Amino acid sequence: MIDFRREEEYFVFQDPGGKGEMLRRKTEIRFDPLTGESSRVVYDPGLKLTPPDYTEIGEKTKGAKCPFCADNIMRITPKFPSEIAPEGRIKVGESVLFPNLFPYSKHNGVAIFSGQHYVRLLEFTPEMLVNAFRGAHLYLKKVVETDPGVRYASVNWNYLPYSGSSILHPHIQVIVSEQPTNYQARTVKEGEGFYAQHRQNYYQALLEAEKGLQQRLIKFGEQLSWLHAFAPKSHLDFMGIFQDTFSLEQITDEHWKALAHDLVELFRYLDSQGLASFNMLFHVPIRENPADLVHLRLVPRLTIGFLETSDINFFQMLHQEPLSYKVPEEVVQEISRMGIMTG
Ligand SMILES: [Zn+2]
Repeated sequence: MIDFRREEEYFVFQDPGGKGEMLRRKTEIRFDPLTGESSRVVYDPGLKLTPPDYTEIGEKTKGAKCPFCADNIMRITPKFPSEIAPEGRIKVGESVLFPNLFPYSKHNGVAIFSGQHYVRLLEFTPEMLVNAFRGAHLYLKKVVETDPGVRYASVNWNYLPYSGSSILHPHIQVIVSEQPTNYQARTVKEGEGFYAQHRQNYYQALLEAEKGLQQRLIKFGEQLSWLHAFAPKSHLDFMGIFQDTFSLEQITDEHWKALAHDLVELFRYLDSQGLASFNMLFHVPIRENPADLVHLRLVPRLTIGFLETSDINFFQMLHQEPLSYKVPEEVVQEISRMGIMTG
């Protein structure tokens, strides 16, 4: 039912050193089982990564210079109308959620995790993450209650500047719109096509197939299961699937706890690889649709070499062709050897 299609190509050329023997370098083109979009698993030149350290920049940008630090947040961030938040902002523990002054959508909340300005990847605790997710959840429910016109929701995270984040103080973005993003439009449409053909939810079928194959399954959890995407959107591509959760209404506090727990585990793996920055997309169907499911994608962001070359080039930007130096099945074996995501 799930088609894991891949094609191999070899580039054959003469070794510049040695005795002039011929080298064969493989490019593997993989096709996303849902959308058919291709990704390339390319030859790994032996990338050595050092995670960026923002300690010094953190000192320079915190406090009075940061809109999200305690000095400023209650003074300069905007407030919601009272039907969304009677006090203007949504607070859960140390997390504060407020309107984005420069919105990307009809509704756009921003939430900080805590008062800590620079949080290193390994400093995130499940509690910090859960507080921000709970705030996002309250906001999503209020938006849906008060604006029946909205159809698409997501919770998103750019962590650290490599990922596109312009403020060091960690924060997530809740986006609710009448219009889908390309990702939402494509996955919902293809998911409906899959459902019409097989009478089964694509994500559930994918998880079942991966459970059988045991090549890319990272964890099968009570609420949340993890896979590495077959056709990755970047050098790694973790998919979290809430296997029984079809809509916003079905999300409970247990879901957030599971997500926070597993993210902290996943961060250990990223850190072990010299990675720190990432993009995350958490897709939340507003209305129940048997063809769609609550799920997330998390991909690392990095720079290459001493020029700090961007990891996005003409392939991703214009050909819309993701590249990966890592072989998904090897990544999953490594995660398992390291004992990550076992609990
Ligand atoms: Zn700050």
